[in-house]
Amino acid sequence: MRPETLNPLFAEVSALPGVGSAQARQLARLGLTRAVDLLFHLPVMALERVNIDELDLAYVDRLVTIDLEVLSYQSGGLRAPMRVRCRDKANTWIDLVYFGQAGGYARKLLPIGEARLVSGKLDRYGQGLQMAHPDFVLKVSERSQIPEREPVYGLTEGITNRRMGVLAQAALARAPELAEWIEPSVMAQHDWPSWRDALAQAHRLEDEVLAHDRLAYDELLANQLALLLVRASARRRRGRPLAGTGKLTEALLARLPWPLTGAQQRSAREIAGDMAQAVPMLRLLQGDVGSGKTLVALMALLTAVESGTQGALLAPTEILARQHHANLLNLLDGLPVRVGLLTGRDKGRARAELLGALANGEIDILVGTHAIFQDAVDYQALGLAVIDEQHKFGVAQRLMLAAKADVPPHLLVMTATPIPRTLALTAYGEMDQSRLDELPPGRQPIETRVTALERLPEVVDGLARHLAAGKQAYWVCPLVEGTESGDTAAAETRAAALRQRFGDTVGLVHGRMKGPDKDAVMAEFAAGRLQMLVATTVIEVGVDVPNASLMIIEAAERFGLAQLHQLRGRVGRGTAHSVCLLLRGGDITETARARLALMRQTNDGFRIAEEDLRLRGAGEMLGHKQSGEPEFKLADLDRMTALLPIARDDARLLLDRDGGLDSERGRAARVLLYLFERDSAVALLRSG
Ligand code: ADP
Ligand code: MG
Repeated sequence: MRPETLNPLFAEVSALPGVGSAQARQLARLGLTRAVDLLFHLPVMALERVNIDELDLAYVDRLVTIDLEVLSYQSGGLRAPMRVRCRDKANTWIDLVYFGQAGGYARKLLPIGEARLVSGKLDRYGQGLQMAHPDFVLKVSERSQIPEREPVYGLTEGITNRRMGVLAQAALARAPELAEWIEPSVMAQHDWPSWRDALAQAHRLEDEVLAHDRLAYDELLANQLALLLVRASARRRRGRPLAGTGKLTEALLARLPWPLTGAQQRSAREIAGDMAQAVPMLRLLQGDVGSGKTLVALMALLTAVESGTQGALLAPTEILARQHHANLLNLLDGLPVRVGLLTGRDKGRARAELLGALANGEIDILVGTHAIFQDAVDYQALGLAVIDEQHKFGVAQRLMLAAKADVPPHLLVMTATPIPRTLALTAYGEMDQSRLDELPPGRQPIETRVTALERLPEVVDGLARHLAAGKQAYWVCPLVEGTESGDTAAAETRAAALRQRFGDTVGLVHGRMKGPDKDAVMAEFAAGRLQMLVATTVIEVGVDVPNASLMIIEAAERFGLAQLHQLRGRVGRGTAHSVCLLLRGGDITETARARLALMRQTNDGFRIAEEDLRLRGAGEMLGHKQSGEPEFKLADLDRMTALLPIARDDARLLLDRDGGLDSERGRAARVLLYLFERDSAVALLRSG
């Protein structure tokens, strides 16, 4: 249970003075539903006001504070704004402009002939100057009421910056003093303020950079503590040591037409080493598209089978699940291994039969989508769970999976999104890591070109030559902001246009199609009966058709870089020279241009990932939005890079000394976990 001292912070925003249901709804649009959210909604920047004596064009667009004398009013009719003409001491004039109903109020504030202290943003107006709705209009003696620096908050319609400041202060008033959870030496080294002081300073803009650092550190520390607690708790449970006999893995290797890469061998050894222990494995296998993760996973699955247990392979989509299944059947043909497939689509008797076979151990390896870990699915003895391409999966889901079984399975997570190290620690910090940092030999590098969409006719001609040579191609259609139906419409239109020219060899898949229809089209494409596949990003992950050597991506500037890299990875899988053609819109920004240029320059997934991270932010890259895991609210990328390693060490040290978090500092750290809503991590502590 959350400590009582924190309750005032977790009250709804409507508990704050003056917040009615309308305002609560406005705040909710920013994700601010409780006092604590307002507390952590730090100013995004500081507004600086300059005091000036005389008006000057040099100050246009800045916030200025100046003494003015009111000369006259001009109200130009019904819809025209009210203009209050003023002058400075050098006789330069400026109009203060009030729109709508504000005119009458302006007359009261600014009586003709009086001097006033006015502050606001200076704009150009024809040859002269104006200021629309000044922030302050005061008596000249009231100068001290105007702050020189003001926090600027992220806002939404209906909430002014000043209101947000007031709300932040109201939230702050509810924040208690809390015992320190940061290691004293770390505090001293950075000269950080206490938690409450840091919040006050951040909102008041006093040493706000340092204050923000401290608060970001808190968030990272909570993240790392939670992950290490997950790890400790998962590893406290006794799993099955799966040493394997080597029979099946050796048989598999013997029939492969090529040897494993060095990186595959190393990763396979690391995994086998973990699986041989009674402590359940928690391992992340990272490898760029095409680095051969599937095979490494299959070796691990076979080890589980050799040891008399079952293995499960979870794919993120129906298409991939089916492909993995087909692939495994093919690779294991003739070996005594029974592979089953279960997706959300399988119903009725077939499903019941499959579940029966799974429960009595007739199935050795089950491949499927999320359905394979539903409650109704009972394994006879699940030894290893492999999660493929899981960048949309969160810690909580991984945890649930392990918690379900009586004896926790070994867990292998594979991701094809190369993740920068820092980020890997925040998202997968409870896991050990293996990396496939080497592609199988003989891979043809993929040539990437950027072409303007205007040259579509030439592109289609090139496509015609490609298809005439008997090769296959993908055409990926643009993402339409926020709507799956928009994606679909774009893809349908494109497919229709291409069919006009290429006829029935053009297939179409999109996210709104029914599963079996999608599979049918994919199967036709894989078998070569369709030469060309028009698709939305449903083909993003994992699909493997070696004869497809041309990838055309329309409106490429709308995709994330990592996503483009994934899409590009669909080609370059066979022996033919492969091309990825990025079609860009006409008027794209410089940044967009630079991003596409980077795609052209490098095939290095890690470099692209770093860049993508810089451009898009961590939350999006890890797909946290989908998985419902909280994003970092306080730790931006720079702070993450600088502070995460320290937080990691700090967390580890604390748990080494005080694994139950019972010491004084340990108890403070529990409060920290609640503050960042890692309640489930605290629960692990109790039960453990
Ligand atoms: P990913 O890491 O993207 O999941 P896959 O496991 O799908 O990569 O492998 C990509 C392709 O490379 C597959 O066609 C696979 O058969 C092939 N492959 C895997 N390992 C090797 C290897 N050691 N040598 C040559 N080809 C390999
Ligand atoms: Mg794969």
